[in-house]
Parts: sequence; C-alpha cells; structure tokens
Amino acid sequence: MSGRTYRVTGINLKGIPLGESDRIITILTREQGLIRAVVKGSRKQPSKWGGRMEPFVINDLLIARGRWSAQTDACQRLQRIVQVETLQTFPRLGRSLAHLTAAQYLAEVALLLALPDQAQEELFVVLVEHLQRIERAAAERAVLPLLIHGLYHLLALAGFAPQVQACHFCGGELVDSVFFSPQLGGLVCDPCRVAQRPSPIVWVSSSVLQALGSLPSPTLAEDSLPLAAWLEAERLLRRVLEHHADREIRSAGLLDSCYAVPTASSQGVAAATFSEEPFRSSEALGGNLKKL
Ligand SMILES: [Zn+2]
Repeated sequence: MSGRTYRVTGINLKGIPLGESDRIITILTREQGLIRAVVKGSRKQPSKWGGRMEPFVINDLLIARGRWSAQTDACQRLQRIVQVETLQTFPRLGRSLAHLTAAQYLAEVALLLALPDQAQEELFVVLVEHLQRIERAAAERAVLPLLIHGLYHLLALAGFAPQVQACHFCGGELVDSVFFSPQLGGLVCDPCRVAQRPSPIVWVSSSVLQALGSLPSPTLAEDSLPLAAWLEAERLLRRVLEHHADREIRSAGLLDSCYAVPTASSQGVAAATFSEEPFRSSEALGGNLKKL
C-alpha cells in the first residue's frame, strides 16, 4: 500500500449523512484516537458495506488519507474508508431501549474524552469492556449500575474521577450527613461543608453514598441497592461530566425516558421503576446517534 493509506482498529461511534449516498463515520481507534472518515455509498440500498459501518461495530480498517492544508483542524480532515473487516459486533445491545441508551451514553462520553492523532488504546479498551458488560446484562434493571460504573471508569481515565470514598477536603471518613460537589468533583463531609462552603452542593443519602463508593472497584459486586440510588448517582456523575465538558450530555435525556423518575410525592425508591416503553429497533439508535 502507498503512504497515503494506513490500517487501524476502531469502533464506530457516530454517523452523519453526507450528500445523497455517503456517510461520515466517527471512529474511536486504538492507534490514532478519534478519526472521521467518509464511507462512500454507505447509504445506498443495498450497500456493499452491509452492517459493517453501523454503530458499535469494531472493524479493522484501511483508510486513505485526505488532502488538507496545515491550518485544517484535525477533526475536519476528510479521509476515506477503503477496506473493512469486521472483528466484533454487539447485537444484544439491541435487546432493550435501556441497553441501547446506556451504550449510546458511553459512546457520547468517549467522544467527548477522545483525542485525534494519538493512540487511545486505554480508552478503546475501557469502552469496549463496558459495552460488553452492558450487552451481557440480561435484565434491564442491571443496565443502570453497569452504565454508571462505565461512566466512572471513563472519567477516571480522563483524570476527572470524583472522590467517592472519602471527603474531598480532609480525606476523612464519611458518616452521617454527606454532600457532593459537582464542581470539586467529590464528596464532602459536613464539617468541611460548613467550613469551606462549596457551592452548589447536593445532600447524599446513605444508599447513594454506597452506590458511589462501589464505583472505583474494577467490577461491581452483586447489586442490592434501590434503583433510585443509582439514578441519583448517575445525575451526580453527569454533573461532573457536564462541568468538565462544558456542555450537556444529550444521551442522558434518553436515560430519563427509560426509567420512571421518582416524584416528590412518591416514596422514592418504590417509585423508581422501569418504564414500559417498547424498544424501537436499531432505527432509534441510528437516529439518536445522528443527534450526538
Ligand atoms: Zn472533610
């Protein structure tokens, strides 16, 4: 092959239409980080690419470099996918809207954290590992803790992991009244809250504290916490993410539609049940990915 082509292994994270029949795919690769490449004819029916350029497919790719000036932003350099060999797919992510939404949420966060033009081996491995865990979850109920675990590990990889096992200020044990600061990115004990006055600050219940405290572990232990605790833990991590990204996490809105959110008049935990919204096929995922 000429010097204008190169090989990478990557996972498709996002696709947007280009013209009548093409598509630009954003791919997280092990070797080159985030790349954007044109897939010619991928929107034709039938397409020679089959399902290989769909979201969450891992491929070996041969890519032809585009031509650009030195001033062109790396993300704008249009390259072209020449050959594709599929290594892994995640068909069971389509088993429920909760599975798809969790996968899309992780993909959006990976897109926020990934960098172009440099190896992103760890990010690739962590994302794929957590997608596999979500795909293996038989029950929709089990998806939420797995998603939050994945979010925490992606944050940790980026150096933004919140302090979830001790006080952010004094490093002391967390007992009785405990609070969380999205800006500082961590838990705060009551004496430090009074002394330091961080703002905004969120009170954390004991079950949410337990959920957060379990996140640094490489694997999640058997989960006996109420769904409401995981929902609150997700909201706290989302605020940390949005603080660092300085933008809204769009997939999180879809998450809210998967789970009935407890109301002030409810008994909290008991009200946090799974919605009955039917899974809307892979079209929902494709459509949602285009909005990222
Ligand atoms: Zn403290």
